[in-house]
Amino acid sequence: MLFFEILCTSQDYYFKERYKVAVPKRKTTPSRRGKRRSHHSPFAVNSVECPNCGEFKLAHHVCNACGYYNKKEIVDKTESSEDSDLDTEK
Ligand SMILES: [Zn+2]
Repeated sequence: MLFFEILCTSQDYYFKERYKVAVPKRKTTPSRRGKRRSHHSPFAVNSVECPNCGEFKLAHHVCNACGYYNKKEIVDKTESSEDSDLDTEK
């Protein structure tokens, strides 16, 4: 009987040692949880219409569709779109 008890306790000890998990020291308050989750929601992207082609683009950025910025052609989209690997979709 004593042997049985020793066996049980040793197995129990082995189980507890093997499956130890991290336990939080204290409960997360609703305030802290809310503060953490305040960055989780998606934010609206400030898109404006391109004056050259009419596509929506990011404000103060070169247009992705036509390559124009401030009425000047910055990126040559006519030839580069065919050759570059970035625009090709697989
Ligand atoms: Zn454009």
